Amino acid sequence: MIYMDKRAAKLLKWYDENKRDLPWRNTKEPYQIWLSEIILQQTRVSQGLDYYRRFVESYPDIHALAAAPERDVLKLWQGLGYYSRARNMLHTARDIVQRTDGVFPVKYEDIRRLKGIGNYTAAAIASFAYNQPYAVLDGNVMRVYSRLTGFTEPIDNPKGRKKLQHIADEFLVKENPSDYNQALMELGAMLCLPKNPRCAICPLQIYCSAYATHSVGVIPVKQAKKQKKKRFLNYLVIQSGDKIVLRKRTRGDIWQGLYDFPCIETTSSAKVAYLTETSQWQSIFGRKKHAIEAVSGEYRHILTHRTLLATFVKIQSGDKAMILPEGCEWVSLRKLHTFPVPRLIDRYLSANL
Ligand code: SF4
Repeated sequence: MIYMDKRAAKLLKWYDENKRDLPWRNTKEPYQIWLSEIILQQTRVSQGLDYYRRFVESYPDIHALAAAPERDVLKLWQGLGYYSRARNMLHTARDIVQRTDGVFPVKYEDIRRLKGIGNYTAAAIASFAYNQPYAVLDGNVMRVYSRLTGFTEPIDNPKGRKKLQHIADEFLVKENPSDYNQALMELGAMLCLPKNPRCAICPLQIYCSAYATHSVGVIPVKQAKKQKKKRFLNYLVIQSGDKIVLRKRTRGDIWQGLYDFPCIETTSSAKVAYLTETSQWQSIFGRKKHAIEAVSGEYRHILTHRTLLATFVKIQSGDKAMILPEGCEWVSLRKLHTFPVPRLIDRYLSANL
C-alpha cells in the first residue's frame, strides 16, 4: 500500500508543478466543468479552449444556455464536429432549468442520468466539482493505466474498458479524487503520449510495467479497425441572384439541425451527366431554366464510421419558383454565415463563395 501511496504522491507533486493553467481548472462550478468536458470529448485542448471561452461568454450560466435557440448553439459549435454533443447539452440545460430551476445535480447517479453524460463525464463532474471519489477513464487515462500495469487486452471494447475501470477505481486516491483524476489525465496528455511518450521525465517511470519490459510502443493494444464505409454526396449549390438554396438536416442521419445543400446521394462516384438524369434532379429542375456553372473536385471528409466523398455542382437558376426538395429554402447570401453548417460545407463555402 505504501508503494501505491508513493506513486500517487509523485504523480500529484508532478501535477502540482507542471499542470497547465486551464480556465475550467480554476472553477468548481459544475456548469462550467460540464461544458468543458463535453467540448473536450474528441477534441484537443488547444482547439477546445476557444470554443469553451466563446460558450462561457455567450452563455455564462445554465439559464442562459437553456434559453438559447438550437440554431445559435449549433452555430457556436460549428467546426467541432459530433454535433449531437451540442444538441444533448442544450436538451440537458433545459431539462435542469425546468426540473430544478438550474441547480446541477450533485449525486453521481443523478448526473449520469442526464442526456449526453456517460460514465466518464459523470465521474469528471462528480470529482472535479464536488471532490467525490469517482475514477475518470478517458483515452488518456486508459493509455496511462494500460502502460503502468502492462495491460495487454484491447482497450477499445467494453470488456477491456470494464477491466481498466476496475483498475482505475482501485488506484483512485479517495482523499483527493479531483486532483488525482486531473493529474492522470494531464500525464496522459503531456507525457504518456500515444507516440514517443516522454518516459525519461515521467514521474511514474520506476513503477511502469511497459517501460520496464520495453513494450511502451505496443501498449495500449487496440482492435483491428474495420474499413470505413464510403458515402458519395453530390451537392447541388443552387443560386439565383443574391439567393442560395439551403437544406436543414433532419433526424435520422448525420448533422441533425445543421444546414447543407440539396443532395443526390449515389452508390459510387457520379458524373454530372448521370445526375441530370436522376429523378431528384428532374423533380427540381424539370424544364426550368438553369445552367451548370462549375463542378468541384472531390472533397473528402472523415467521420467516425464513414468517409464522405462530396462533389459540389454549382447551378444558376433563372427561376426561384422551382419545387424544392423537403426541408430546403431560399436564403439570402448575406445571411448565409448565420446558418450552422458542417465543416465539409464550410470548406466548400470558404473556397467558393
Ligand atoms: S514511463 Fe512512459 S509509458 Fe510509463 S507511464 Fe510514464 S510516460 Fe507512460
